[in-house]
Amino acid sequence: MTTPGFHRHRSVIARNGGPVPVRVAVRLRPFLDKAQQEKGSTVRGLGEKALEICNWRNDQESLKYEFDAFYDKDTSQDKIFTTSVQNLLEHTLHGQNASVFAYGPTGAGKTHTMVGTSEDPGIIPRSVYGVLNAVAKERGAGDGEWAYSIAVSYLEIYQEKVYDLLETKNHDLQIREDRDRNIFIPGLSEKTITDFQQFEKHFVPASLNRTTASTKLNSRSSRSHSILLLKVVKTQQVSPFRQLTGKLYLIDLAGSEDNRKTGNQGIRLKESGAINTSLFVLGQVVDALNSGQARVPYRDSKLTRLLQDSVGGTSHACMIVNLAPEESFYTDTYTTLNFAAKSKQIVNRPFTRESIVRPHVLKRPADSATDGASKRVRI
Ligand code: ADP
Ligand code: MG
Repeated sequence: MTTPGFHRHRSVIARNGGPVPVRVAVRLRPFLDKAQQEKGSTVRGLGEKALEICNWRNDQESLKYEFDAFYDKDTSQDKIFTTSVQNLLEHTLHGQNASVFAYGPTGAGKTHTMVGTSEDPGIIPRSVYGVLNAVAKERGAGDGEWAYSIAVSYLEIYQEKVYDLLETKNHDLQIREDRDRNIFIPGLSEKTITDFQQFEKHFVPASLNRTTASTKLNSRSSRSHSILLLKVVKTQQVSPFRQLTGKLYLIDLAGSEDNRKTGNQGIRLKESGAINTSLFVLGQVVDALNSGQARVPYRDSKLTRLLQDSVGGTSHACMIVNLAPEESFYTDTYTTLNFAAKSKQIVNRPFTRESIVRPHVLKRPADSATDGASKRVRI
């Protein structure tokens, strides 16, 4: 987004930071009905970071996993936000990208974790509120040297097509990369917000639309990835007119269950295949990053293309892995934990994206000579 009246000079200074591991936290939801509860949970917490599940090959043994955090069934939305997400927000005010994504089988609590309810809001509303507050605080402490702008976009990837959830007429949008290696989607709507009510005005109907449509379309919401993008642009009002752009991606992934086992037919089978492609490629991306392969197959699916700067890329990331305690989820729990265990090894290298903007009228012929110049400077 360009600030009105300013021309964006194309010289970008990207300052590399040190390696930052992807934070992986596991959240176990409570039982949803009493009868199931009596059978016992397949997941047991072992303190604040570890958990175990039974080993179905040998019932005398359990399989133990350790992550950055383990949140048991009684953990509040607030605790999850303050301990895993809140400290990512400030990066968006410093020209860095951050992302949070919810992974796990359908029914394990991804949407509850990301969206929540009006009484018990999840990561998306809490993060938007947090960024709005952080911007207000910084603006209040400053002397007007910087102007701030916050915009939201909301999109869905369904059957390898990108849909705009704020302007439903925009569909099958393309994912592109600019010369500074920023991923962007031409034609995706962006709504500028200055307070939380404005955010709710756009987000609540779009989010409800998605859930209502899902009941009509064979649970489309469990087969699609939905992504809320919050963009913070900070523009210096005096020379040298620096501009910092930070993006926060909040991602509710499609269910990680293997749809081939559920006997889906026809169109549903095709849908499952498409979803499996995206999550399958996400797994391959994770494998490639962990084994240090030169070619990481980001371009092989829409999801990984979009997450290119969030997974093993240049952003701070947190994955919340959602698990269900019921025995019927056991196989999904096992495969989900194995995916989470390998994701834990990914290291992101965040860097700051900064460009120089100056009033349009000051554009000199010399500007064209620097077009496309891109420097990466280590700090
Ligand atoms: P998913 O998005 O992974 O398919 P949902 O978020 O829709 O799963 O959760 C499935 C059901 O479980 C919903 O009825 C939801 O309200 C409930 N649920 C999920 N997590 C929790 C939690 N931590 N506490 C209470 N109820 C939860
Ligand atoms: Mg959901």
